[in-house]
Amino acid sequence: SSLEKTLLASIRTIPDYPKPGILFRDITTLLGDARAFRRAVDELVHPFAGTKIDKIAGIEARGFILGGAIAHQLSAGFVPIRKKGKLPHETVRVAYSLEYGVDEMEMHKDAIAPGERVLLVDDLIATGGTAEGAVKLLKQMGADIAAACFVIDLPDLGGRAKLETLGVEVRTLVA
Ligand code: 5GP
Repeated sequence: SSLEKTLLASIRTIPDYPKPGILFRDITTLLGDARAFRRAVDELVHPFAGTKIDKIAGIEARGFILGGAIAHQLSAGFVPIRKKGKLPHETVRVAYSLEYGVDEMEMHKDAIAPGERVLLVDDLIATGGTAEGAVKLLKQMGADIAAACFVIDLPDLGGRAKLETLGVEVRTLVA
């Protein structure tokens, strides 16, 4: 599609970053391109325009940039999901799996009230380990998860399928 072409043309691919053999999708070039940034945000917002979304939960750090813009367009609040130790108030915490090993992420305990309708946002889904951790946190807080949104899907890594198994609708713009 022309949308996919516009967005793909604005994403830079960096070989061997952060490690040999990895093709890193660099979205700083998309964010720096006014048309591409607006287009990506508009497309992610579109299915939810006019529906009730209380909060956008953005995953550190690129999920903050996209999530902030999406929250503004949907007149929703924004809440950050951060690596452990960065949030100042009481938190709920969950372990999640990385390619090698595990880490922990957290949210403020009072960031979401039970039953609030929440959209999860990040830039890219690969294995889905990060998004799965975020979904666990949101469910623990009693959130009603509307969907999980990403600009980029790396479908061979199985993340979309993993989230769908958890009953979460997944929306992505380019693969
Ligand atoms: P996953 O947990 O799905 O394997 O990895 C997704 C997480 O790692 C996301 O938070 C995403 O920002 C980051 N990530 C992994 N690979 C890439 C990449 O190639 N480009 C970007 N921009 N982020 C990546």
